[in-house]
Amino acid sequence: MREAETREHWVVRLNRRNRTAFFALMIPVLGTHFVFIQAGPLQWILLGLQFLLYPQLVYWRARRSADPLRAEMQNLLVDDVLLGIWVASWGFPLWIAFILFISTCLNLMIFHGRRGLSKVVLAMLAGVLIVALASGLRFRPDTSPLTTGLCMLALALYLFMFADDAYTRGVALRQSRKQLGIRVEEITSLQAQLQEQASRDPLTGLFNRRHLDNLLAQELAECREMGAELALVMIDIDRFKAINDNFGHLAGDKMIRAVAALLLRHAQEADLACRFGGEEFLLIMPRTPPSVVLQRSEALRKEFEAMRVTFEGHDMRTTLSFGIAGFPDHGSEPTPLLQMADKALYVAKLQGRNCIVDAGRLAETADA
Ligand code: GH3
Ligand code: MG
Ligand code: MG
Repeated sequence: MREAETREHWVVRLNRRNRTAFFALMIPVLGTHFVFIQAGPLQWILLGLQFLLYPQLVYWRARRSADPLRAEMQNLLVDDVLLGIWVASWGFPLWIAFILFISTCLNLMIFHGRRGLSKVVLAMLAGVLIVALASGLRFRPDTSPLTTGLCMLALALYLFMFADDAYTRGVALRQSRKQLGIRVEEITSLQAQLQEQASRDPLTGLFNRRHLDNLLAQELAECREMGAELALVMIDIDRFKAINDNFGHLAGDKMIRAVAALLLRHAQEADLACRFGGEEFLLIMPRTPPSVVLQRSEALRKEFEAMRVTFEGHDMRTTLSFGIAGFPDHGSEPTPLLQMADKALYVAKLQGRNCIVDAGRLAETADA
């Protein structure tokens, strides 16, 4: 039962309710009219079949159909042909024809707009034509005052039902839009969080290597356009393995975080601080002249040399080695620049560590 309910198309459900309610409203209207025109027993039987049984039959047909929406749209047209037949066979009682026409227009226009109006007119005319061909047309437009009054009441009630339905749907729509807005905001902020997390190294919070690749290419392109310089400062912790070996991996982690914090303290607004690998870092300094890069690297080196990192009561200290490469002097693409900075760092290690080597000096050494 529950499965069948969820499978039922909302248009089929809505139309069943509207059709059942409206056709039931029509029974007293037509009943008083039948008394007025002194209808025979066959008319009364047909009235019962059309206005009580028919709405359930077409609902059943649409529900069982492979394409319920299409079937229900066909049902609406069948309604109109049949109503056309009724109206013509009663001799076009004006009030009854009017409310049947208006109510069925409402039904079709909410699904088809103005096209629905022409569909109603054509389908009702088809019904009228059937009567005209079968028995010829007569004209008996009058209704009794009681029928007229009931027509007005039936139409008013039907319109109230439509308006109430539109209101309920409007409220539900506003609520679901609001909820949708909240969900979109949540997703946007989650997306931003994920992007941020994907670009950061979890231990230090510095940018990670993957993000660095994008950033470096962007920064280089900007500096190239502006004709500005850019420096890559590759930094490696000296004899870091000994810290791990002597004090444990957690102590090593703390040392790595201490270097990251130092880099962030020294980094200027345009600088980008990255964790390049295990205990290796990269500081990108865009739009900074080589002399300033050297000065700032020296300040970092000195501060770290004097620093103590405490772990479980042990004072740990070590030093940093630096390799510097700059755009445009040592390359104009990320990979050769990174290779130059790495070479310079290697030379710094060879020179005894705790020092700074500029890639420019490598060339000088080679020349010599
Ligand atoms: P050098 O002065 O030549 O740089 O020697 P080093 O000992 O600093 O360098 P080496 O490359 O021999 O050792 C680096 C060590 O860093 C090896 C690795 O286990 C450790 N390491 C890499 N990532 C992490 C990390 O996230 N946490 C900790 N605690 N250790 C790490
Ligand atoms: Mg090292
Ligand atoms: Mg290393």
